[in-house]
Amino acid sequence: MSDIILETVGLTKEFRGFVAVSDVSLRVKRGTIHGLIGPNGAGKTTCFNLLTKFLPPTRGTITYDGRDITAMKSADVARLGLVRSFQISAVFPHLTVLENVRVALQRQRGGSFDFWRADGLLRRYDDRARELLEDVGLIPWATITAGELPYGRKRALEIATTLALDPVMMLLDEPTAGMTHEDVDRIVALVKRVAKGRTVLLVEHNLKVVAGLCDQITVLTRGRILAEGDYASVSRNPEVIAAYLGT
Ligand code: ADP
Repeated sequence: MSDIILETVGLTKEFRGFVAVSDVSLRVKRGTIHGLIGPNGAGKTTCFNLLTKFLPPTRGTITYDGRDITAMKSADVARLGLVRSFQISAVFPHLTVLENVRVALQRQRGGSFDFWRADGLLRRYDDRARELLEDVGLIPWATITAGELPYGRKRALEIATTLALDPVMMLLDEPTAGMTHEDVDRIVALVKRVAKGRTVLLVEHNLKVVAGLCDQITVLTRGRILAEGDYASVSRNPEVIAAYLGT
């Protein structure tokens, strides 16, 4: 088994001639938390969308766990264990927190969700759903509707529904965006916990979060890789500092 779980070669995305991601060759090591950072407009979200197959690349290849996934659909990629959090795992606001996780489990095991047979089926997933809520610290919130959850807790629920898909590698898109300091600290601890035994690729704006979480960091600017390394090395890199200060 190779120690590189995800690799892109020459990944490029153009939008009507505008190059948003340019010749990105990225290698993510198995079992690490890898950060993808960069100033606004650097191409992070586009990269993320390419990796999770929400967008087709203009050029380049993506290999996951030894398999070329460049032409695969996002649902098929998710079945291989490469799972994107937040966008893929929609939270249903009128279902309870527990029901949301049961639905995610049922989808994972049984494909599409059948509301008419829902009740009996969902009860079957109760124990596992409770375990997942335990993992993300949401047991006290299990019986309230997801719509009533405070923002930071909602993101924890999204992580629980993502875990329901049994990810080998999780892609997290700005898990701390818009959060209070207290929520940020809680999500950082949660990501650390759920990253055990998995690989995580994290798009993040908050450098403090990146410093606390990431083993390896790739810095993008203007669609290209500017620097790679651990936090200490990239944060000292004059080009990275200039890119962040916009000079
Ligand atoms: P980041 O996530 O780092 O802020 P993005 O990936 O969102 O950067 O955007 C990179 C560049 O690509 C930006 O200049 C953005 O305007 C452009 N871009 C992103 N999506 C599209 C699109 N669908 N059509 C045209 N341009 C786009």
